Amino acid sequence: MELFLHANLSNIYPNSAMAIIITDECINCGACEPECPNTAIYEGADDWRYKDGTSLQGDLVLINGKKIDANEAQKPISDELYYIVPDKCTECVGFHEEPQCAAVCPVDCCVPDSDQVETKDALLAKQRFMHPE
Ligand code: SF4
Ligand code: SF4
Repeated sequence: MELFLHANLSNIYPNSAMAIIITDECINCGACEPECPNTAIYEGADDWRYKDGTSLQGDLVLINGKKIDANEAQKPISDELYYIVPDKCTECVGFHEEPQCAAVCPVDCCVPDSDQVETKDALLAKQRFMHPE
């Protein structure tokens, strides 16, 4: 199903990809969290930070123009289910050939987020911004 969705959206948005979103079918197994190379996945109700698992520190302007404090704790996106931070998700571009969360999820609830369309070049730039070394 996810591959079908990817193929369709790739036709609509050439050279584009999307951040991944976790749907409400998540069973909170936790299998995806350690697989994310950007530390973009958090347990429900946990705070998140831009600096977690990245080289980001202190006050910064992201590639998308957003001003952030990488060290500041951010409110959870979900209080009940594991969630993905769109600003940190690169669909694994720069690390792997396919989204690692989707690859390990036992209920296939890690799917492309059509509200977060970015070109693959933009995803790679985002990855390099977070991991310049
Ligand atoms: S697609 Fe990759 S970068 Fe995005 S949340 Fe899943 S494992 Fe992390
Ligand atoms: S692997 Fe799937 S079911 Fe398990 S926590 Fe992650 S998104 Fe939820």
